[in-house]
Amino acid sequence: MQQYIDKYDFAGKKAIVRVDFNVPLNENFVITDDTRIRAAIPTLKKVLEKGGSLIIMSHLGRPKGVDAKFSLKHIVDHVSAKLGAPVKFADDCMKADELAAALKPGEVLLLENLRFYAEEEGKPRGLAEDASDEEKAAAKAKVKESQKEFVKHLASYADCYINDAFGTAHRAHASTALIAKYFPNDKMFGYLMEGEIKAIDNVLHNAQRPLTAIIGGSKVSSKLAVLKNLVGKVDNLIIGGGMGYTFIKAQGGKIGLSLHEDELIPDAQAILDEAKAKGVNIYLSTEAVATQEFSNEAQTKLFPSTAIPEDWEGVDAGPESLEVWKKVIADSKTILWNGPVGVFEIPLFAKGTLRIAEELASATAKGAYTLVGGGDSVAAVTQMGFADKVSYVSTGGGAMLEAIEGKELPGIAAIRE
Ligand code: AMP
Repeated sequence: MQQYIDKYDFAGKKAIVRVDFNVPLNENFVITDDTRIRAAIPTLKKVLEKGGSLIIMSHLGRPKGVDAKFSLKHIVDHVSAKLGAPVKFADDCMKADELAAALKPGEVLLLENLRFYAEEEGKPRGLAEDASDEEKAAAKAKVKESQKEFVKHLASYADCYINDAFGTAHRAHASTALIAKYFPNDKMFGYLMEGEIKAIDNVLHNAQRPLTAIIGGSKVSSKLAVLKNLVGKVDNLIIGGGMGYTFIKAQGGKIGLSLHEDELIPDAQAILDEAKAKGVNIYLSTEAVATQEFSNEAQTKLFPSTAIPEDWEGVDAGPESLEVWKKVIADSKTILWNGPVGVFEIPLFAKGTLRIAEELASATAKGAYTLVGGGDSVAAVTQMGFADKVSYVSTGGGAMLEAIEGKELPGIAAIRE
């Protein structure tokens, strides 16, 4: 049975907490952005305040085995400073028995990178490139078998389990999903997970109408499932960025050199048809900022998005598109935004995306519920100084996308079931 962090009695208990401390480090192993660490602090502090002790576990990067570059020892001091408590370090997550057993209320232990073990992800490593299908299957079976011991061993350190790692909630890994079964009556979400789940719920299940989704980014293929799920739920769907051009081409528009996926034109058409049948308004870009050069010094011209010359490429939403979208956003009560509406990395082509951030902030000020997710959208909101002027900024790109595809995330299901 699922427990709740606010109600659970942590006194004298050891809590093993999965966090997402996969923070960016520079070449001197200094943290360049500690957002993910800060995001987990309320949960960690709560356990300590209520008389519990902490065993913190996370991954860092994508090591292929033990690799000092990806050691969590680099972040021990920072975590300790943010938490306001000393943090002990177990330099092998499978050899922390004594350190865990000795933990007293109020004490904190951080385990070394879980992904130093293939068992965390349950995927075989070091397979020869020319391995046969049988060899692959045998290696997979082997790691799945040893994964059981890995999970059991992690679970043996603690009395209760908290998952506060939304960023990896879409993965069925040892520490994000499998471990929960060892704590049938002592498993719960941390505050970050609770917040993310509520935010998604506010949009997908409890939305105040009108509900508008703004989906941008490069490719239809990477967000097809998202669009398919949303078209059955929203009142308005704004499709911008590179992916918008596949839709414009599907409707017969001339898109020049703009990014598009011909093989997805039938899918784009099917989404347009479904939207029409369901009375959902789809807003594509009507005016494009186009260029012939991918640089910040490039010349740009405005064209109707359906009449871009053959040797020009649409790279941002033009003012006319933004005026239409602005009105749709302003008239909405709930807004979900994922993905840039232009080539955000180049400041010259980032204006449309920054403008969306601005419109979301003003809609929020007027009482709309706004949820922002995905790397570039979050960066746009942060760059404009609006991170606290929208209702919720999601910390998990991939996890958020899978949630808005309508999938139940393994890390969430494991706590609830
Ligand atoms: P995604 O990872 O799918 O959210 O897409 C983000 C990427 O979409 C960013 O790298 C943007 O540069 C890219 N993008 C957005 N609009 C365009 C466009 N019109 N043409 C090419 N790339 C774009």
